[in-house]
Amino acid sequence: MSIESSLSRRSFIQKASVGAAALSVPELIIPYRPKQDRVGVALVGLGNYSRGQLAPALQETSHAYLAGLVTGTPAKAEEWGKKHNIPKKNIYSYDNFDDIADNPDIDVVYIVLPNSMHAEYTIRAAEAGKHVICEKPMANSVEECRQMIAACKKANRQLSIGYRLHYEPFNQEMMRLGQEEVYGPLTHIEANFGFPIGDPTQWRLRKDLAGGGAMMDVGVYCIQGARYTTGMEPLNVQAQEFKTDPVKFAEVDETITWQMEFPKGIICSSSTTYAFGVHRLWAYSKRQRFGISPAYGYDGKKGETPDGPMNFPQVREQANHMDDFAQCLKEDRPTRTPGEMGMQDLRIIEAIYESIRKGGAKVDIPAA
Ligand code: NAD
Repeated sequence: MSIESSLSRRSFIQKASVGAAALSVPELIIPYRPKQDRVGVALVGLGNYSRGQLAPALQETSHAYLAGLVTGTPAKAEEWGKKHNIPKKNIYSYDNFDDIADNPDIDVVYIVLPNSMHAEYTIRAAEAGKHVICEKPMANSVEECRQMIAACKKANRQLSIGYRLHYEPFNQEMMRLGQEEVYGPLTHIEANFGFPIGDPTQWRLRKDLAGGGAMMDVGVYCIQGARYTTGMEPLNVQAQEFKTDPVKFAEVDETITWQMEFPKGIICSSSTTYAFGVHRLWAYSKRQRFGISPAYGYDGKKGETPDGPMNFPQVREQANHMDDFAQCLKEDRPTRTPGEMGMQDLRIIEAIYESIRKGGAKVDIPAA
């Protein structure tokens, strides 16, 4: 289970225990919020992230609503359909997924499947004439990203990546302070994200499904953090891999550290791991620093600047993202987290793996 999903599990357990105290209350049926002028979203893959974050977020959105479901598990179709009051005609399996083309209730298909399935379902959704939100990491390779972008372009549909931190105030403040050089030109970024992963049988530890380990799952947040704090693209990278449990991590990376050089001499040092908990994003200028820690979870973010603590509300990032995307579609403007952004992260990740294969050699990162 990821730190992202363990956070959602925690709040689920908290809510469940409150619910258990009132045992006589029948199971809540969440009212279906019909279309009107809202954008209909179908969730594909009803696992931890859909259950813990996206379905609740779709109860808070003003411009989007949960219109459909795609699942391979009939029991989930039954349970979710009942709970969210979704009409049967809007519930699909992976076998009849392409029939979604004929469903006018569904405007956006949101891919929340294991990483190796992102490309296939994004392309099929675009071919069905739907706009797409695809979870991070966008895919397992740059080549897959290219195909996903091409399919969406060909169908004239938008593609947005589930980079929720672009839609919340602490990380938005990092973008502003860094890019506007509020505390002077940046010299250094430190970005680290890791957590101790549990269940050794989960798909996140299988290369065919996950594409890689901690790097693909949460290292991508560090790359994002460095890119949006500087507003620049890294030029090259050197990376090192460490393994304390070669059995559990036989197929994927456990811990990776890496250093990226940005223009203007800015250096970013990062680490990502499935072995211990760390989640921070710091930026330094010659004499000052600002940052967030924890930086990447769904809540509990704390930020510091030379002028004192950051003071922002915790928001439901996923609701903000889906509302923003819905408005982009209505107003015909581009998403701020497009497929091209996800593809550039994959270029960087591929350069990191190449550096490891070459014993830590400096590898140039192809320009976007
Ligand atoms: P999960 O294991 O909880 O759910 C995966 C879903 O895919 C399940 O419903 C499962 O039944 C389904 N599935 C279909 N085919 C499968 C197969 N061959 N093997 C395994 N599962 C299969 O995973 P999750 O935590 O919900 O993650 C799903 C995606 O969402 C991942 O790409 C992950 O990186 C992303 N995610 C993003 C965030 C975020 O904060 N943006 C947080 C968590 C997960």
